[in-house]
Amino acid sequence: MLKATDAEIDSMFGRRTLEGRSAIVTGSTSGIGIGIAQALARAGAAVMLNGFGDPAEIERQRAKMAEENDVDVAFDNADMSRPEAIRMMVERANARFGQIDIVVSNAGIQHVAPIAEFPAVRWDAILAINLSAAFHLVQATYGQMRARGYGRIINVASAHGLVASPFKSAYVAAKHGLVGLTKVVALEGAEFGVTANAICPGYVWTPLVEQQIDDQAKSHGVARDSVIRDVFLKNQPTKRFATVEEMGALSVFLCSTAAASITGTAIPVDGGWTAH
Ligand code: NAD
Repeated sequence: MLKATDAEIDSMFGRRTLEGRSAIVTGSTSGIGIGIAQALARAGAAVMLNGFGDPAEIERQRAKMAEENDVDVAFDNADMSRPEAIRMMVERANARFGQIDIVVSNAGIQHVAPIAEFPAVRWDAILAINLSAAFHLVQATYGQMRARGYGRIINVASAHGLVASPFKSAYVAAKHGLVGLTKVVALEGAEFGVTANAICPGYVWTPLVEQQIDDQAKSHGVARDSVIRDVFLKNQPTKRFATVEEMGALSVFLCSTAAASITGTAIPVDGGWTAH
């Protein structure tokens, strides 16, 4: 598979263009979040990782990211469904880094079921983690970004922030909401050097998708390869999964001064899916 390489990304942006900046990346113990955190760290930013998982594995990732990129990397296990935990994570990031310049709301969960059977508790959880958490994170960090005249807010939405699919009512509603929130923050921050953009990935091969492939293969009684080809990549014209490295590269660009006029956008990284 074609992958954006570290060397390619370095040559586009120069090494350490984010030196002196600090970032929080939610849901960065897995998948896209790790890809974005790694790219920001490689560009020289201090990073607060967040998410769930095996503590020893998370510590291994944290230490490796810090050492390889020669930056401060911390970890906070705040639950994105709890506003108070989000505020405390921000306090800890401020105490550790002195300031927060970049926030990436990436943590997300999925549940697939017909609307008539969609469990209300899953709806509430998806709205809380995929949408409300981004509001709480922006609210806790926007003031200092505005005061310093630089801030980068990146919300990882989805192609499902732009178009719908059946059986994903909560996810599609939350991601459309996240695109809307992004636009409002962009308008409020525009005169103060604070940009807000949504990244809208198509299918990216991560544990979230891996789980869905397995579930669908089992429930339809078909091979994984057919599920990948006929379900996941059916509407993705490139016929390949997008990569976490591509999400990382775009995030570094959005944080650069070159992207100062890019705000309020919802950028598809979906192999042409939403061009249909
Ligand atoms: P993933 O399951 O690999 O990672 C999700 C991350 O979120 C993990 O680090 C997990 O620990 C964390 N998380 C989950 N619930 C949390 C909570 N309550 N509090 C804190 N952290 C929590 O998923 P991924 O595929 O990397 O997805 C990341 C984001 O990208 C999600 O918002 C997802 O909706 C979006 N997205 C993914 C795809 C895809 O194809 N993978 C496509 C479009 C959008």
